[in-house]
Amino acid sequence: PAADETVPAWRRRAAEARHDPETLAARLSAEAGEAEPLDVLRAAFAVPGLKIAALSSFGAEAAVLLDLIARTRPDTPVLFLETGQHFLQTLQYRRTLTERLGLTDVRLVVPDAGERADLDPKDDLWRSDADACCNLRKVRPLARASAGFDALITGRKRYQAGTRQALEVFEVLDGQLRINPLAGWSAEQIEDHAVARDLPRHPLVSQGYLSIGCWPCTSAVAEGQDARSGRWSGVDKTECGIHLGGRLVPAV
Ligand code: SF4
Repeated sequence: PAADETVPAWRRRAAEARHDPETLAARLSAEAGEAEPLDVLRAAFAVPGLKIAALSSFGAEAAVLLDLIARTRPDTPVLFLETGQHFLQTLQYRRTLTERLGLTDVRLVVPDAGERADLDPKDDLWRSDADACCNLRKVRPLARASAGFDALITGRKRYQAGTRQALEVFEVLDGQLRINPLAGWSAEQIEDHAVARDLPRHPLVSQGYLSIGCWPCTSAVAEGQDARSGRWSGVDKTECGIHLGGRLVPAV
């Protein structure tokens, strides 16, 4: 492209090396892989020209990550997967948190209308094929929405178990840098932060919903139960797929 020709080759190569996700993940891991979450974010935002977005479900623990982002860079684009199947309380909570934290760029990421009409005209694909439904409403829309970013911040934690036990603070998924500032925090640290910062709670938490996604696939859990056991209960599924790789999953 014409614009590139005005940039000296050495400078172009240096910029490309900085943004090569594997190189960057290794460098940031060495620099800030063990750092506190705020310093993890500061290290990532300090990379010149790195285009960073955050991903949030505005669920049970979302406020902690969003608070840290708002204190670091409140104009960070925050991607919310608007599946069309959220609890009304989640949509209200999204507005409350956005306003309270002063986030200025929350973006609704919706499924492709044509794909939705073709694949799930009755909005009930979740009943017969939850993987296909998540693919249509989460995985593919996120792949499209995040394609313009070099890095994506997520709120995943190791204590959430399952595939998350070995989570790195900086990792590469499908050629994109993922930044997981809270990876090493415990449930107690998350709770302590929420209390110390007086963060608003998702209204369903008090009703036993400790991990909150789409309403058809979320249930309350009994005291002492793993929080994520309320997701897709009764189905052999623990993740929607957005953190598993395969960004360009074919349409079903
Ligand atoms: Fe569909 Fe349930 Fe996945 Fe939401 S969580 S996209 S309703 S299968």
